[in-house]
Amino acid sequence: MKIIMLGAPGAGKGTQAKQIAEKYGIPHISTGDIFRANIKNNTELGRKAKEFMDQGLLVPDELTCDLVMDRIAEDDCKNGFVLDGFPRTIPQAEALDAALAKTGQKMDFAIDVDVADENIVNRMGGRRACLNCGATYHIVSIPTKQEGICDKCGNPVVLRDDDKPETVQRRLTVYHEQTQPLIAYYKKQGILKSVDGSQPMEKVFSNIVASLA
Ligand code: AMP
Repeated sequence: MKIIMLGAPGAGKGTQAKQIAEKYGIPHISTGDIFRANIKNNTELGRKAKEFMDQGLLVPDELTCDLVMDRIAEDDCKNGFVLDGFPRTIPQAEALDAALAKTGQKMDFAIDVDVADENIVNRMGGRRACLNCGATYHIVSIPTKQEGICDKCGNPVVLRDDDKPETVQRRLTVYHEQTQPLIAYYKKQGILKSVDGSQPMEKVFSNIVASLA
């Protein structure tokens, strides 16, 4: 099963993507995580991506598309994958369709996790991330067991630079301008599923699973 997660930053698509990956036994591919790992390892890609990410802007397509195409060509993607944070622009979606078409494949579902902007700004302020292992939490809905400490690796959790309020506003504007048109793009392809992302996480997940049946 080949799935795309759509939704504004902070809509909870990453959390849902991880659960979908686990349930269906397919890899979770997050471009944001790939960029953050590159930043942590101080690679050339990481240094270039950081300039855009810190400003709440999208990393240019030429730095993003090939990296995803290479990843989905790997062996573990044979039975499918869940893309989280890609595509984020129409050209990225077209590049993905074109790459899959070469081997006679196509995406199965695009799931839009829908949350109003007002809720997003509140949610993002409570988001905490471990800069060491990438685990994400929320001070209210997914708290760490010990305050401020990552459950998985014991390092501190922090408010990421790109989750700070001024950057969140910019990311939302970028989302509406560049990413939201993908909803119509996948609707036209007949593979769009929309779920109300303002419900509790477990409910959002069960609605997603029901929509894939
Ligand atoms: P995320 O963790 O998915 O919210 O991504 C964090 C940041 O990484 C975004 O705000 C963008 O700057 C960058 N990014 C992630 N995925 C993409 C993409 N598909 N295209 C361009 N930039 C991306």
